[in-house]
Amino acid sequence: MNQLTTTSVHTAVHTAVIGGGLAGLTAAATLARAGKSVLLLEKARHIGGRALSQQRGDFTLNLGPHALYIGGGASDILAELGVAWTGHKPNLRGSAVYQGRLVPMPGTPQDLLATNWLTLAEKAAMVRLLWRISHTPPESVAGISLADWVNGQTRSAALRRFLHLLARTSTYANAPELSSAAIFLRQFQLAYRHNVRYLDGGWQTLVDGLRAAAEMAGVTLHTGARVISVHEHPGHATIFLADGQTIQATAVILAVDPQTASQLLPEHEQLKQWAATAVPVRAACLDVVLRYVPHPDRRYVLGLDQPLYFSNHSAVAHFGPDGGSVIHVAKYLPPGASDAAQDEAELEAMLDLVQPGWRAELIERRFLPHMTVVNDLARAENGGLHGRPGYALPHSQRLYLAGDWVGPQGWLADAALLSGKQAAELAQEQRLEIGAISNLHPV
Ligand SMILES: Cc1cc2nc3c(=O)[nH]c(=O)nc-3n(C[C@H](O)[C@H](O)[C@H](O)COP(=O)(O)OP(=O)(O)OC[C@H]3O[C@@H](n4cnc5c(N)ncnc54)[C@H](O)[C@@H]3O)c2cc1C
Repeated sequence: MNQLTTTSVHTAVHTAVIGGGLAGLTAAATLARAGKSVLLLEKARHIGGRALSQQRGDFTLNLGPHALYIGGGASDILAELGVAWTGHKPNLRGSAVYQGRLVPMPGTPQDLLATNWLTLAEKAAMVRLLWRISHTPPESVAGISLADWVNGQTRSAALRRFLHLLARTSTYANAPELSSAAIFLRQFQLAYRHNVRYLDGGWQTLVDGLRAAAEMAGVTLHTGARVISVHEHPGHATIFLADGQTIQATAVILAVDPQTASQLLPEHEQLKQWAATAVPVRAACLDVVLRYVPHPDRRYVLGLDQPLYFSNHSAVAHFGPDGGSVIHVAKYLPPGASDAAQDEAELEAMLDLVQPGWRAELIERRFLPHMTVVNDLARAENGGLHGRPGYALPHSQRLYLAGDWVGPQGWLADAALLSGKQAAELAQEQRLEIGAISNLHPV
């Protein structure tokens, strides 16, 4: 033990990162590359958080549908950290579901002409609208709710339904009265310019790549390490683990959800408020692997009058041996309580409509009733992304926040990686005041 630690302190580091999701891994790798000693603490047995993929038989399944946006922050940070991935653009030509039937989706100019649920005038208006969506600076509509913004664009009920379909698909949010219109414009513009990528091997590739970057830079990873509280003192912070270990650090990055962050620092009023007022963006997900896809041409189907999504991800990327298909079906949940049995029935009905006969071809099936896609919705009343907590925890000298609910930049995984990087750059400025680090426990 060095002289500044107490007898109960087992480990001392420059920065402790709590949480091993994309945000925590990015923060840890960034700090270690800047020469800091870093300990990453993850309560689960595996790192990766919501980005990890699970192995089901021969197939790799993401936790619900995951698509990497290009140019929104995450892809650049992955490149900076040397994380390699391969991915493919989905073909966004598809169908929509309206009144229980499959109808054409106007994904391309040809499809727009073929669309039978829009009048000629609505088709012309749609072209003007798509131009406006792709050219309006998102910040200019940050304080406007998606519902108000959509209503201000068109009086056509059919076009409004289509704009809400696009907004749900690109943001995962199903709360138009609350949601800032800016996140829709941001995500739409990214997808319009660069499309998205479905990743070969799933998002586990990103988790493994970030882990390798972190370990190569010297990060010590400790899984099965649940943090139960954090105490800040002049010059350092002490972290208490459920197994009785304590850790002393010059800086701490809390890369966890707002409720956990508040539990770790129960006296922090601002954190308490953020945790209490957060509106999680959630989805119910039905992930299936089929031996044979009854309608291989039906790859991408979205609900016009229901908040539903269907995509055959293995029509584009590799998740297992040839011959099997990984399909994600999801329901964008509105805020508040949801009925899991009802949601599951709706997802199965979507599969029945798009791929009748799928049950006979089932190899694997997983229903995830309440996945948190983003920990807090960027709301119009808060000014959109600018209303989210900053990277440095207020009234603290050495505590920082990272995660998909933190910072004025990015949505979905972009926010997780951008905040991880920003929190690390701030933590890096802290001078190590707790002496030489010589007694890291093997983990
Ligand atoms: C169904 C679904 C679909 C999605 N689709 C997309 C998409 O298409 N595109 C996109 O960009 N993003 C998508 N996302 C979002 C993306 O997955 C997340 O934004 C990102 O993974 C969040 O990373 P994070 O590090 O902020 O949080 P998390 O992954 O939640 O990481 C937090 C970590 O902290 C750990 N932890 C919590 N408490 C403690 C404690 N007390 N002690 C130690 N560790 C603790 C947790 O175990 C967890 O590993 C999707 C998410 C879901 C669920």
